[in-house]
Amino acid sequence: MKTLGYAAYSVADELVPFSFERRGTLPDDIAIDILYCGICHSDIHSARNEWGGAHYPLVPGHEIVGRVSALGDKVKRFKLGDLVGVGCLVDSCRHCQTCNEGLEQYCENGWTGTYNSEDKIGGTLHTHTLGGYSDKITVSERFVLHIPKNLDPAGAAPLLCAGITSYSPLKHWKVGPGQKVGIIGLGGLGHMGVKLAHAMGAHVVMITTSPEKGEDAKKLGAAEVLLSKDDRAMTAANNSFDFLLNTIPVGHDTDPYMNLLKLNGTMVIVGAIEPLTHVSGIPFIFKRRSMSGSLIGGLPETQEMLDFCGEHNITCDIETINIKDVNTAYERTINGDVKYRFVIDMATLKETKNIVR
Ligand code: NAP
Ligand code: ZN
Ligand code: ZN
Repeated sequence: MKTLGYAAYSVADELVPFSFERRGTLPDDIAIDILYCGICHSDIHSARNEWGGAHYPLVPGHEIVGRVSALGDKVKRFKLGDLVGVGCLVDSCRHCQTCNEGLEQYCENGWTGTYNSEDKIGGTLHTHTLGGYSDKITVSERFVLHIPKNLDPAGAAPLLCAGITSYSPLKHWKVGPGQKVGIIGLGGLGHMGVKLAHAMGAHVVMITTSPEKGEDAKKLGAAEVLLSKDDRAMTAANNSFDFLLNTIPVGHDTDPYMNLLKLNGTMVIVGAIEPLTHVSGIPFIFKRRSMSGSLIGGLPETQEMLDFCGEHNITCDIETINIKDVNTAYERTINGDVKYRFVIDMATLKETKNIVR
């Protein structure tokens, strides 16, 4: 299947137009015409090889919404024209215990990411998967999701990563009414964390480095705003939180945040995968606090999150862009200059004239 997208060719290159082949539909496959794809901070980390292991050309994109354009013979849950989503996973072993429990993101035999993962299904000359900054994709039915009809398709795209990455820990740690919940970092993940925790009935506090984001945080559902650079305000808030969702995308000193938790409280790290620059034992020991992590979400929980967003009419706050502006969007994301997710309008790919490579 001839496909047009945008790829990074090396760690130093900007993304440029890239023409490539995808596999046709196998019996359990769905072919999708992509309408929108969100820009996750992970796309930037990957394109720039900040996590190592980048395979070039690298087509990022794992917040995909589109319409079904073809179906394999064995597909049961979808029909032509359905509005569907694809998130961070396009395959896993499908038979280990965690896959059987619908926790494919923790597959014991390794899952296949939507981009930059070894493509075990194959069917093209490419050894690695190529993501959603493109006009088409072929994905096994198990890894495709239904998008609720009442949601705006562009605003729904970032639910496929930012939405589920926030929803899964909020559900796992049973966030709800009567709890004080802090969301650390108002970016793509954080703004969904605020909306979702608020919809789950919690008292939400936005914990931010950016005073100018305070008004927005309240519109998104935060009852209070706490400036993490204000030492006095942080100290005054110590021992008051039941749960913290930490979306900071870089290593940092976790102690000031851990101290915010009550006895038995938990902070979940979803942002930083590099070493945390400082973690001391005292905040854990003196209040029996916990720190944990969480990775995106499995397919059943991702569908549950989408249905929850459908019921509560929740989408992401987005800025839609022409794909030719993707490199500027990367710089603006790094500078925190987006409210609160860029989404590429894939119809703009049709304007691509010079396919450089
Ligand atoms: P983003 O849109 O860039 O937002 C990150 C926010 O963190 C910023 O808006 C900023 O908020 C805050 N921040 C940035 N640098 C900071 C610093 N040095 N100290 C304190 N706060 C800082 O990023 P995103 O797309 O939400 O992604 C966040 C991270 O999660 C990325 O590293 C991404 O790779 C990762 N991620 C993880 C998973 C998972 O499964 N665990 C899934 C998707 C993404 P304020 O201005 O409000 O402080
Ligand atoms: Zn992501
Ligand atoms: Zn598995």
